Amino acid sequence: MQSETDLPDGSELSGVRSDQRQNPTGPYLTAPEDLGSLLPGEPSFRTDQLREWLYEHPVLDPEEMTNLPVRVRNALGPNHWPFAVEVEQSSDRGRTRKWLFRAPDGAAIEAVLMGYRRRTTLCISSQAGCAMKCSFCATGQFGFERHLAPGEIAAQVAFAAASLRDRPMDDSPTRVSNVVFMGMGEPLANYASVREALRRLIDVMGISARSITVSTVGVVPGIDRLAEEPWSVSLALSLHAADDHLRETLVPLNARYPIDELLASARRFTAGKGRRVTLEWTLMKGLNDTPEQARALAAIAREVRAHVNVIPMNPTPLAPQQRPSDLQIRRFVDEVKRHGANVTLRDTRGTEIDAACGQLRVRSATPPEDDPAGNSGQHRNRTADNR
Ligand code: SAH
Repeated sequence: MQSETDLPDGSELSGVRSDQRQNPTGPYLTAPEDLGSLLPGEPSFRTDQLREWLYEHPVLDPEEMTNLPVRVRNALGPNHWPFAVEVEQSSDRGRTRKWLFRAPDGAAIEAVLMGYRRRTTLCISSQAGCAMKCSFCATGQFGFERHLAPGEIAAQVAFAAASLRDRPMDDSPTRVSNVVFMGMGEPLANYASVREALRRLIDVMGISARSITVSTVGVVPGIDRLAEEPWSVSLALSLHAADDHLRETLVPLNARYPIDELLASARRFTAGKGRRVTLEWTLMKGLNDTPEQARALAAIAREVRAHVNVIPMNPTPLAPQQRPSDLQIRRFVDEVKRHGANVTLRDTRGTEIDAACGQLRVRSATPPEDDPAGNSGQHRNRTADNR
């Protein structure tokens, strides 16, 4: 990306000090209801003030918590955020901001903020790395590091909100209006943490449940649990193939939860929540871009009353799959439409989003042992490329 700015140390610009790397505890790693434990001897209204600064009006630096006494601000200062900002990149004339955060134990966390006219969407990570090993996804190839804690998930949203407040994006809302779990990790494989993060985003931060999308590769028990939760969050299913044979080659988890079971759980979710699910379809040349797949996909979408989102494949260094030509992409979308399904193709901005989401792979962290592309450690202090 031409306009991208790599900051060797984004932390200084963002007001995050490097000494916090040493400290594994802090306000975001404490449940909002337990914040009093961080303020011993302080009256309870201080806890309420702190909670507001953390969730309702997040600030980059505790120094900005103007109604808290200096002693309280100082006590919180060093470990305000549960991670340091290792890299901040911005592109698209400042309307896309990507962060590589680093937890004190070295775990990498990535988030991408995208400004539009009527919404500002943040793509967040639920795990450092991913265990799902989808053959076309860079995160999967990199392997699993660890689950993220609820506070590490919620803090990505708080940090983006604070950044947006500090430096608004042109022509976009100044608050994070939408959140998508489409960064690193499989959210439903880290259910308890994702659930607690959702609770904080919805009940404490005040983000509308409908504006939050949980994207899953198809963890059926997780979908069923999510359907039972009190919030009407949106659900996206990463389908990618209309038959089990092809899907298994792309998504290993399909061996455990085949398409029929996945669609049955999607129907249960839709029935329970009264909400349509989205079927995500990363379009790969010569694999799932055929007219047969388009027709089968349209039939599935009609049957489960789902919306289809076609995402042209973003090439990653270790994946053999390729992006189809623009003509082929258009033909595929038209064929799905012609067979009666509701379908959208990600626009240019969307393509960029998914470039980020599909390629959230951190090269500055420990690389996989067998890295045939020889990319290990090449771009230190950079996030994965976004072509
Ligand atoms: N684990 C969850 C969320 C993370 S992936 C899931 O699978 O849904 C978010 C979306 O990006 C998924 O639909 C995924 O299939 C898609 N994606 C992954 N790699 C991609 C790539 N190289 N190009 C385009 N989309 C990709």
